[in-house]
Amino acid sequence: MIINVLELLPEELIQQLLDIGEKEYRAKQILNWVYTKHTTDFNEMTSLSEELRTKLQSILSITIPTIITKSSSSDGTTKYLLSLQDGSKIEMVIIPNGKKNTLCISSQVGCARKCEFCATAKLGLTRNLETHEITSQVFQAIKELGNDKLTNIVFMGMGEPLDNFDNVIKAIQIMQHDLCFNFSPRRITVSTSGVIPQITKLADTGLKLKLAVSLNSAIQTKREQLMPISKTYPLSELKKTLIDFRKKTPYRITFEYVMIKDYNIGRKDVKALLKYLGDISCKLNVIKWNKVDDLPYETPSDSEIDRFISSMSVLSSAVTYRKSRGADIDAACGQLAAKNI
Ligand code: SF4
Repeated sequence: MIINVLELLPEELIQQLLDIGEKEYRAKQILNWVYTKHTTDFNEMTSLSEELRTKLQSILSITIPTIITKSSSSDGTTKYLLSLQDGSKIEMVIIPNGKKNTLCISSQVGCARKCEFCATAKLGLTRNLETHEITSQVFQAIKELGNDKLTNIVFMGMGEPLDNFDNVIKAIQIMQHDLCFNFSPRRITVSTSGVIPQITKLADTGLKLKLAVSLNSAIQTKREQLMPISKTYPLSELKKTLIDFRKKTPYRITFEYVMIKDYNIGRKDVKALLKYLGDISCKLNVIKWNKVDDLPYETPSDSEIDRFISSMSVLSSAVTYRKSRGADIDAACGQLAAKNI
């Protein structure tokens, strides 16, 4: 079986080399070609002998997804439709903001979680992404942007990352490893709809990263309508789990709240949200809902948004209004649906 180098932690690559009678230090050379020089062709690895390059090609590959389309928004956001080896399509988005460039990546082909406001939900779940299909989005983005330009990675593309737990965790280990992508833990955010057992499992791994929770309502019945996962994992249990998670991580939890007109930004919603977040060490990111065809929701007006945000000012937590980016190319929050399939 041929293994993708982007699937392997350095110690696993070393083992592959030892298995074919090669020296351990060769792994460092290969990783340098892949992660520093962004080479995908063993024949370009001129510090390796021709014989070794041939040998490597019989056990390893460096395959990355093909870019099918690239759509650029007027605000600088770029959405990529990518084709995987089996023909499955996923999307990733690069969002520039001053000196920061954030990559929003997918963790599944589609998603099983059926959130009402989300375009990906309409696709259903086809399959989990393999580890290399996750790390190769980072590789692809670095190639697009150039060295050292990618600053942040968020798992907010297609899929519920914690439903693809093992592959996502390994991908993050590769992203953080100093011989691979060498990303700081505080620059990697995993966003979940609230899969309680996996949040606990994540805390127990000891892996450092930032956790974001897509909340969208602090009223149980309303959240159940928006996010059916809340029927299985209710708000009260979610809160307990997050308080425990927070004890094991240096980073505050971020709550994401998509503002929907006449739905989750009224007085009762505000009261419930203030109560829910009041005693958690957290950050609150609010974002306006972006229109998705066939969904019955509307985007709130600027004055409705202002009113909602100012009512949050009593929270001790930081409240940030994340300006929606890439809405004109369907690359904003909840809009990824791998169109053109
Ligand atoms: S919001 Fe996230 S978890 Fe919910 S359906 Fe969309 S991709 Fe899945």
